[in-house]
Amino acid sequence: MPLARRSHLNLRLLSSVPRRQLAGQRVLVRIDINTELIGGRVRDLSRFQAIKKTVSWLTDREAIVILLAHRGRPTKRQAALSLRPYLRPLQQILAQPVSFFVQPIGSRALQLAVQRLQPGQVALLENIRFEPGETNNDRRLAKRLASLGSLAVNEAFSDSHRGHASMSGLAHFLPMVAGWQLVQELKSLEKYLSRPKRPYVAVIGGAKISSKLGLVRKLLRQADAVLLGGALANTVLKAEGVAVGASLIEPAMIRAARGLRAASARLHIPVDVYVSSTAAGGARRRAVGMVRPTERILDVGPDTVDVFSRALKTAKTIVWNGPMGVYERPPFDRATKKIAQVIARQSAVAVAGGGETIDAIRRQRLDSRFDFLSTGGGAMLEWLEGKTLPGVQVCMKGFRP
Ligand code: ADP
Ligand code: MG
Repeated sequence: MPLARRSHLNLRLLSSVPRRQLAGQRVLVRIDINTELIGGRVRDLSRFQAIKKTVSWLTDREAIVILLAHRGRPTKRQAALSLRPYLRPLQQILAQPVSFFVQPIGSRALQLAVQRLQPGQVALLENIRFEPGETNNDRRLAKRLASLGSLAVNEAFSDSHRGHASMSGLAHFLPMVAGWQLVQELKSLEKYLSRPKRPYVAVIGGAKISSKLGLVRKLLRQADAVLLGGALANTVLKAEGVAVGASLIEPAMIRAARGLRAASARLHIPVDVYVSSTAAGGARRRAVGMVRPTERILDVGPDTVDVFSRALKTAKTIVWNGPMGVYERPPFDRATKKIAQVIARQSAVAVAGGGETIDAIRRQRLDSRFDFLSTGGGAMLEWLEGKTLPGVQVCMKGFRP
């Protein structure tokens, strides 16, 4: 088995940090609570629940907890992407007050504010992506962040595929250990997917093929069937010369997507779709190839769902990432719902990952029918590709910056 598949065995664990290194110490915890707001409120609390165990582990041991998190993809300080709306759900789930510090990293004001925190208290810093150096892993930012504490914890599996300053950058200046949830995610992925029982069927959908093409290629070699839906499939259809009208596609990916199907009979793409020509319009069914220039493909059709269902019914292992359509906007949620139901009815091992995919599963209350729901979309996909995630690597025993 490749090392990357056993990475959880090789991690420095939060649970093995001695009490004296926690009591009265400031601990930076990178979390991922990036969650969509609906009507100004957080509806899906799963990412908040996922961090609870690590935070209480620390506060129970009299550590001072400083939470680092992001929201969306800001390019500058933007009030619309503040973490403030996360504060209330965070306090509710942690069942304790959480201070919110908006002062820039490296400022004297922030330094003083964190120094005033008492053992057992928790603070959240403002959107870490407001800092210009976060996404390009600026060393000075990582160093300034590190100066706020004496230990770092990675509790953001779903962000661990990014080598950002508050993730892997921090580990150059502070010891970094793996939080409970991070370890749990790696263990579960390993348990269910490192030696999948066959037939092994993958369902891949969602918005961007650019982030998933590498994985699709890999899965075409590893899995017995790969079922493609979502906007992802539009680009593949387009690459095959099929008219997709005004559908969401990624023009830059057409060349790379060309020949995917010719390369493997294991790839299944939509044979029919639901389209709409206006933003608020209803659904019209079209055979693939019959989409008109003004129409947008917003879901895969019932014949496609049948083809996919047949493949899923033979499976012993199923992995799913990415909705089949714009499931947020009924009636374009039909295929996603149906696929979730088909998977839920199977006795096969079933793993799903990705923010929207899990949301779609939860909306139907089918979560308990899955063996494992990973918080990671991109991170789970990179794990599946066999990559060692940068945020995991820095928590490994023997890691030296
Ligand atoms: P996940 O969060 O589960 O990893 P992605 O982020 O890759 O999934 O993709 C989810 C998004 O893809 C959803 O917001 C959904 O509306 C969008 N999507 C799916 N199918 C289409 C389509 N045909 N056209 C436009 N967007 C789509
Ligand atoms: Mg997503």
